[in-house]
Amino acid sequence: MNAHEIRERARAFAREEVAPHATQWDRDKALPRELFTRMGALGFLAGPLPTEHGGSGWSNRAFLGVYEELGAVCSSTRGFLAVHTGLVSQCLHDHGTPAQRARWLPKLATGELVGCYALTEPEAGSDVGSLTTRAERDGDHWVVHGEKVWITNGGIADLAILFARTGPGEGRKGLTGFVVELPSEGWTSEHLGEEALGHRASDHVRLKFDGLRVPDDQRLGEIGAGFGIAMSALDHGRLGVAAGAVGIARGCLEEALDHARTRKQFGQRIGDFQMVQSDLAEIYAGTEAAAALVERAAAAADAAHDVAASGADAGSEAAPTREEVTRLTSAAKFFATENAQTAATKAVLLLGNRGYGDDHRVERHYRDIQGLRIYEGTNHIQRLIIARSLLGRP
Ligand SMILES: Cc1cc2nc3c(=O)[nH]c(=O)nc-3n(C[C@H](O)[C@H](O)[C@H](O)COP(=O)(O)OP(=O)(O)OC[C@H]3O[C@@H](n4cnc5c(N)ncnc54)[C@H](O)[C@@H]3O)c2cc1C
Repeated sequence: MNAHEIRERARAFAREEVAPHATQWDRDKALPRELFTRMGALGFLAGPLPTEHGGSGWSNRAFLGVYEELGAVCSSTRGFLAVHTGLVSQCLHDHGTPAQRARWLPKLATGELVGCYALTEPEAGSDVGSLTTRAERDGDHWVVHGEKVWITNGGIADLAILFARTGPGEGRKGLTGFVVELPSEGWTSEHLGEEALGHRASDHVRLKFDGLRVPDDQRLGEIGAGFGIAMSALDHGRLGVAAGAVGIARGCLEEALDHARTRKQFGQRIGDFQMVQSDLAEIYAGTEAAAALVERAAAAADAAHDVAASGADAGSEAAPTREEVTRLTSAAKFFATENAQTAATKAVLLLGNRGYGDDHRVERHYRDIQGLRIYEGTNHIQRLIIARSLLGRP
């Protein structure tokens, strides 16, 4: 399938099978499990993974269309996908052994398994190097104690990528990744104890580990390599967040345009007022700019991947370095989510009281966009990544 066909498939699914239910899912605070297997059947869950692991073999660039179309109608569904595919399946593909890939990727591709990514702790958010969940070696197992918070899909997951402190070394040097099959003794998930501003249909939980045993053959990557693995997964996830934000902005523009064409006040349609036109033009221009930047980041990720697969040197003329891909991806996430926030704010105002109720998706977009600005690294942290890379700090 080419990128256009992938987007058309995603658009039809989003408009016909997600949009009609998104408000109710948001009110019910849950997504139906069948949604995930349906996304698996359509090839979305493993879109960018190779076909030998049950994937669709789509480029990152083509896969943006799926995130964007879902983002335009339901950020909870798009968020599910960015975690399940970007943070879990792609991470497992990049860092898993052949046996680990063969064991889990095909089932993640169909939705038989749902994945979550457990990094954040109560005292370790942006500062990942300070996390305190500990994994101690016990023969051919690891025993884990600690706590994670705000873990998307955490209560419904069958498979988790979990990061814990193993040593050797302090800070970011002593972290290791593990794959945990669920349910597992010593692993509990519980309600966060507070209601979320947005993404209300998403499953966000607190996780507690009390003597959780993980076999060493479920270690992801080398001991002490966890920080790099966690960060590389975020590069995949952030592309999904950025494209989802473009979707939010497009959704806001669509609703605002519909309303500007039909709503009449002072004897004329509100779209004829120049102040309204100015807002519409600004949403449009910002969104096109965001979409172009997100596409550029995805194209860089594809080029780096293709060159790596061909065995040529990263950083050669044909391929951007990993750092360049990360910098562009952070710029895309930061710019697209800030733009979508502006678009949602303008759209709520343009719809008047209709924008304030949950009959119109702009109300949901207005709440959900705050999450996109925070997770997978806050937009402050994206600025840091960009500036440090530009300034040459390692
Ligand atoms: C809806 C949602 C879903 C999530 N899903 C997941 C998930 O699936 N898995 C997971 O592991 N986590 C998840 N998270 C957690 C999320 O990744 C963290 O909340 C985020 O990384 C920020 O950490 P924090 O909230 O602890 O904020 P803090 O790190 O405490 O930051 C507080 C404020 O200080 C700023 N700040 C911190 N350090 C710096 C600095 N060096 N320079 C400038 N400003 C700084 C931040 O930008 C922020 O504004 C989710 C969060 C939300 C809201």
